[in-house]
Amino acid sequence: MRSKKIYLSPPFLNGDEIEYIKKTFKSNWIAPVGPNIDLFEKEISSYLNVNNSLALNSGTSALHLALKVLNIKKGDYVFCSDLTFVASANAIKYIGAIPVFIDSDLESWNMCHKSLELALKSIKPKAVIVTNIYGQSADFEKIMSICDQKKIPIIEDAAESLGAEYQSKKSGSFGLLSILSFNGNKIITTSGGGMLLSNNEEYIKEAKNLSTQSREDKIYYEHKKVGYNYRLSNVLASIGLSQFKNLDKRVKMKRKIFRNYYKKLNTRFGIEFMPEPDNCYSTRWLTVLKLKNSSLSKNSLNLIELLNENGIESRPVWKPMHLQPLYKDYNFFSINESCSISENLFLNGICLPSGLNLQFEEQEKISSIIIEFFSSIKS
Ligand SMILES: *Cc1c(COP(=O)(O)O)cnc(C)c1O
Repeated sequence: MRSKKIYLSPPFLNGDEIEYIKKTFKSNWIAPVGPNIDLFEKEISSYLNVNNSLALNSGTSALHLALKVLNIKKGDYVFCSDLTFVASANAIKYIGAIPVFIDSDLESWNMCHKSLELALKSIKPKAVIVTNIYGQSADFEKIMSICDQKKIPIIEDAAESLGAEYQSKKSGSFGLLSILSFNGNKIITTSGGGMLLSNNEEYIKEAKNLSTQSREDKIYYEHKKVGYNYRLSNVLASIGLSQFKNLDKRVKMKRKIFRNYYKKLNTRFGIEFMPEPDNCYSTRWLTVLKLKNSSLSKNSLNLIELLNENGIESRPVWKPMHLQPLYKDYNFFSINESCSISENLFLNGICLPSGLNLQFEEQEKISSIIIEFFSSIKS
């Protein structure tokens, strides 16, 4: 009998989401306005210790609005992590601004402050979008001190890092504006949704107005500028409230999944796990490993294929933006001249199934397939 497919990061339900939805329906607040939205915003704000938040229909719209409220315009430069999901860069294109990509460092796999400094020697951007990948914060102390000196605002893309910490402060509280995603694959989900956060109240007010078609404060519908329809539904916010209440437990579960893989595979020849710097507390949203040896690395796609043949979904690390057909003609800065860190991680990195419903036995099976794969190529 074929066992069921193991996915990379499927949604995980507490079980009481449906009760939250039922209550919402009873209250008749089923549109993108209502008490659940307000409460969800409040709870996330207080968890992250950021004063203002705005619940939106996706993390991508949060990124778009972050750039809008910073008044970034067509032709402006915006720096962006090279190793990220495409949404971070697409928001720059929505505005008509010009993305410039910055390489990662090996310590955190996130934006390298030295490559950032290198880029700043030739281009002055209007903002820097810093992504925290796979549940781990970027090195904000260094990045912020560079950007603060030049008065460049930081937008923190914390879509993958809700629940993580950097220097004992919550991930998602470092940007002048920060964004979260509640997409189905993220650590908590509203089925689809996102959030924009800032300690600057004006930014969030302006973003709220933009997210609701930029209506003027009049009794009739008057509009002076183009707005968007980006608010989160009150029904979906109720799912978020259910999911959020055990966020910290989810983080612990993710870290346990990582530890199980680590124990099984760390001592194996040629395998290295995504590091966790001392000042970071990663959620291990996804467990990611890297094949160390270049002759092994050629085989990373073979390993992904082998896992797939066994009904197991795994993936390469994000394909860097500077290698994307969509973005290959834009500037990319790296202090590494031969092969960038981001490209190296893309070629050698593999994301393993890390869903919260993953069973211990399933993890054992995945690990044995990986071990077997390595023994077969050694001989
Ligand atoms: C998921 C994700 C987003 C986009 O969030 P959506 O809610 O899917 O629009 C943005 N950036 C990163 C790094 C992500 O992983």
